[in-house]
Amino acid sequence: MEPLITENPQTGIPQVLLHADRRVGADMARWRSSGGGAALARAAQNPAAVREEVRLSELRGLGGSGFPAWRKWEAVAAEAPKPDKYLIVNGNEDEPGTFKDRLLLEETPHQVIEGAVVTALATGINRVMFYINPDLARSLAAMKLALEQWQSSDLPAQASAALGKPLQLELLPGSGHYIGGEETASMEWVEGRFPFPRGKPPYPAQSGVHGCPTLINNVETIANVPHIVAQGAAWFRALGRSPGTGTKLYSLSGDVLYPGVFELPMGTPLRELIFTHGGGLLSGKPLKAVFTGGPSSTLLTHADLDVAMDFDSLRARGANLGTGAMIVISEGTGIVKRVAEYERFFAHSSCGQCNSCKIGTATMSRLLDRIDTGRGTTADLTALENLCVMLPGSGRCHLINGAVQLLDSAFHHFHDEFKQALR
Ligand code: SF4
Repeated sequence: MEPLITENPQTGIPQVLLHADRRVGADMARWRSSGGGAALARAAQNPAAVREEVRLSELRGLGGSGFPAWRKWEAVAAEAPKPDKYLIVNGNEDEPGTFKDRLLLEETPHQVIEGAVVTALATGINRVMFYINPDLARSLAAMKLALEQWQSSDLPAQASAALGKPLQLELLPGSGHYIGGEETASMEWVEGRFPFPRGKPPYPAQSGVHGCPTLINNVETIANVPHIVAQGAAWFRALGRSPGTGTKLYSLSGDVLYPGVFELPMGTPLRELIFTHGGGLLSGKPLKAVFTGGPSSTLLTHADLDVAMDFDSLRARGANLGTGAMIVISEGTGIVKRVAEYERFFAHSSCGQCNSCKIGTATMSRLLDRIDTGRGTTADLTALENLCVMLPGSGRCHLINGAVQLLDSAFHHFHDEFKQALR
């Protein structure tokens, strides 16, 4: 089968996930005529070969973790059903600056569903939950329609026969909380409770939803699966710029001329994303900083423009790719105000289970507001610096670490701005 790739006519860059023939919404006939269903047929014949292909592809968790997808898959595949096995396709996408999964769900829902079914066959999963942010009304509507079309087609019977038991596909709107995207929190919601993150161990692969082995993958990760299976791992790896493999949906926003979602080779330099695809900065202003991976990460500056945006290259610089969100800030924008806004978001999003997070994020937000409004003192700044040392690792999930990482990074690059803002 020929790889279904078009090149962006302006850039010549391969479009895999956002191929024009796949952006058909919930139109199953058009999706199947563009090769949809081919990967499912292969997975039904040889599930173990699918896992091996995903391992060789070096597909990573594209929801932010960058964890090799195959490791989670193998862990779940090795477990016996108790009596079920679950897949949660995580579409909770709620982080500021991240808006890629909603595009996949709205415009290529069948690609996501096929990826989930192939994943289920490869790992022996019989219950698939599409867990989607309830505010993404158009994504939910497209998925609902696509799942109805799926149920009235021959594909579920094909998948169930290969699995040896009925494959259940369910659409589950999330709680609307940012923290609901944390993988153990999503399991709590699936079980009907508020999405409080759970402690680990046990890990979801061993004891997840209702104590059953559970795999949790992000929408973008899952959307890649049919293409890896249909075209092979070597093809997928070659799409990226080494050490990255495949393509990546980068969400570009902030002070750029053309904000949007860009599908580019994994490892595309930041400079190319901003200046070639994003059209450069608004009003031609100089670049001041970029919040990478949404706000729960580190800041990059002009000195980092040539860094390759893949998990390993960014990690080597002490930054994170995260979800691939890049929020661009131009000269003239106050960093203190921006950081204060994001820390308010973290304080608001804390689930309150851990005192250090509940009190720490609220305190950081309060102190930053004081500094931003000209009421801060040197003691406030010192208190913030101390919190950056005390808080990391003190919470049950990563929210607290993300909140501190952002502030710490802002101090590292723009400490003088914080001092100048003091009373
Ligand atoms: Fe909740 Fe914060 Fe604890 Fe995470 S670190 S579980 S968000 S209180």
